[in-house]
Amino acid sequence: MRGGLRVGVIEKRRFGGLLMNARRVENYPGFPGGISGKELADLFTGQLLTSGVTCIEDEILEIRPGKRHLLVGRSDIYQARYVVIATGTRPKSLDINVDIDVFYEIIDLPDHSKRVAIIGGGDIAFDYALSCDDAGIEVTLLLRSPPKAHPMLIKEVQERKRIGIINGISCIFTRNGKLVAPTDCKEHTLHVDALVVAIGREPEDGLLSMVHHQENIFSAGSMKFPSRLRHVGIAIGDGIRTACIILSKKEVDHGDYKTMGR
Ligand SMILES: Cc1cc2nc3c(=O)[nH]c(=O)nc-3n(C[C@H](O)[C@H](O)[C@H](O)COP(=O)(O)OP(=O)(O)OC[C@H]3O[C@@H](n4cnc5c(N)ncnc54)[C@H](O)[C@@H]3O)c2cc1C
Repeated sequence: MRGGLRVGVIEKRRFGGLLMNARRVENYPGFPGGISGKELADLFTGQLLTSGVTCIEDEILEIRPGKRHLLVGRSDIYQARYVVIATGTRPKSLDINVDIDVFYEIIDLPDHSKRVAIIGGGDIAFDYALSCDDAGIEVTLLLRSPPKAHPMLIKEVQERKRIGIINGISCIFTRNGKLVAPTDCKEHTLHVDALVVAIGREPEDGLLSMVHHQENIFSAGSMKFPSRLRHVGIAIGDGIRTACIILSKKEVDHGDYKTMGR
């Protein structure tokens, strides 16, 4: 907007993205005591809404490159001279057949959840366990191998006596509506309302793979980076860098963004 371009942001699920799940962000400048992911995401979204950017709820299914690129959404078709793909990451899915509800993001857990199992041993699984405990949800972490989460997160989880940890699970399944998690020495049976799967994330790069190396189509944010570099500050910096590249292009014309009916 500051550069004189008309800008639209198209989001398929919720503005704020993955950050909405983060319990406490302590590495984003300007918030010395940390800030919850939801609060930070709400600040970003609030600024977007007041900056004149058009916010659209739709899922882009296809990009057709051209002088003006066509973005084919579930509900509409959009055209733009410049496209930035910032679709983030998707969770690695777990191939299981259980008869309890399975979620991949903690923000999707129903409000009435009382007991939850989380499978995963990385930062996200441990962060989710702390969020559940904060919310008074009885939570058990299921780990296949030793934890890979940040040592501070591991320490904090270990200090919370209410958080259960079961190490070395070989598989999970349900029996009579209960979650069964066998290890070498014991078969653990858990009565839970939901299972949260947090076993890693991979780039959501389906759209990007359709349009690789096309002129005036860019990518930005965490989808470009390995997991150790998937930080809000890096994603935002990369977005700003991409915007600067677009603005430096000679043929920037005004009024680039408009909606076309189907
Ligand atoms: C539990 C947890 C804790 C975290 N803690 C921290 C922390 O403390 N500090 C930190 O720096 N980072 C943290 N992160 C990471 C941080 O959330 C990410 O780095 C950041 O969200 C990346 O932003 P992004 O915009 O690149 O991607 P995302 O936030 O993933 O946003 C991508 C968006 O694109 C949308 N989308 C995808 N495909 C389409 C499509 N086809 N059409 C329309 N929309 C689409 C998605 O719905 C999503 O909203 C944490 C993450 C989690 C899960």
